[in-house]
Amino acid sequence: MTQAPPQTHLEDDEWRTAQSQFDAAAEILGLDQGTREILRDVQREFTCTFPVEKDDGGVEIFTGYRVQHNITRGPAKGGLRYHPDVSLDEVKALAMWMTWKCAVVNIPFGGAKGGVIVDPKRLSKRELEKLTRRFATEISVLVGPDRDIPAPDMNTDGQVMAWIMDTISMHRGFSVPAAVTGKPVEVGGSLGRVEATGRGVMICTLAALKHLGMKPHQARVAVQGFGNVGSISAKLVEEQGCRIVAVSDEFGGIHNPDGLSVKKLIEYRASQGSLKGFHGAVEIGRSGPLTVECDVLIPAAVGNQLTSRNAEDVKAKLIVEGANGPTTPEADKIFETRGIFVVPDILANAGGVTVSYFEWVQDLQAFFWSEHEVNEKLRAIMERAFAEVLAVSLDKKLPMRMAAYVQAVSRVAAATRDRGLYP
Ligand code: GLU
Repeated sequence: MTQAPPQTHLEDDEWRTAQSQFDAAAEILGLDQGTREILRDVQREFTCTFPVEKDDGGVEIFTGYRVQHNITRGPAKGGLRYHPDVSLDEVKALAMWMTWKCAVVNIPFGGAKGGVIVDPKRLSKRELEKLTRRFATEISVLVGPDRDIPAPDMNTDGQVMAWIMDTISMHRGFSVPAAVTGKPVEVGGSLGRVEATGRGVMICTLAALKHLGMKPHQARVAVQGFGNVGSISAKLVEEQGCRIVAVSDEFGGIHNPDGLSVKKLIEYRASQGSLKGFHGAVEIGRSGPLTVECDVLIPAAVGNQLTSRNAEDVKAKLIVEGANGPTTPEADKIFETRGIFVVPDILANAGGVTVSYFEWVQDLQAFFWSEHEVNEKLRAIMERAFAEVLAVSLDKKLPMRMAAYVQAVSRVAAATRDRGLYP
């Protein structure tokens, strides 16, 4: 059963979305032509094709990418995704968004992203490990604590990061924990990293509700996506008093206006493999949460979910983007006209890379922090970034996405100006 809306090519092109968002910000900032041309494209793109031996003895060829959009403010930073729909253009867009994300929260990284075209569910664990180790070897020419630091993204996790850390370390002849973040704590990971993106989404949701004059216990929340970001966002906003009324995963969605227990949903999905058949809820399809009756919508699945095709049907007053690129520019215009408050991805989901930054700092110092310390430092950074973006939004009368872009692009442009042109 697939419920994906029909693809309308242009609107669903993430690279076009990323570039047009940047162009709008560059226009507002009155950026000079040279800086504009540099920042609207990626600095480096790397494509590799590599073989992996399958369990049956056969060999399958895979294609992977690593793109560095910009490294002016520090080493390239960004996740690796394993998905059949990965493309160079998608990775370019995601890399550009990482540059702005790191600049919005003001951590000293540039932006990168990588991916392999693969449906990891088709692979055994052993095949996944071989694919990961071979891909890590291909991108090892780029990766290192001072140059490019991968992390988890869609369908990659702590185990995949541990294999990458081990592969890079084996090549160099010594352990290099700071070459990758999102690792298990046993190999230099940070406490709080697994929950970090969801925690950042929760912090932004509370800050936005406060700005809109709503109390958490008045907020009915719908969440699309029940992976790392969606499930933890749902759990943490529920803990703050919000009522979760709808959730979905790749197989379908469920709705109960009286509220769903996130703890029970997590347990149910762990045992059943999907949310389907959850007791006491009506099935609504995987796009169902987007248009269900609610106050807050958290899209936390794949990109291009809120488009001109459904933006008029969204009931939420507040959208907090857990996913990267869930909203097209066409949908953004509709939300602006309708007065829907959008906390954009480059702010809302920046908690993940912020704790990745903490992990990298801890690895470099070989000195580790308590979970409380991590969470408090994350809260301080997210609350400050939200307040800064809100101030720009109110001052310049811009929607939050453009305000976040103005903040981010001006930081990267200032760094570009200060460094000057080489040679
Ligand atoms: N993949 C995550 C993101 O899109 C985290 C990136 C990182 O921690 O480097 O923000």
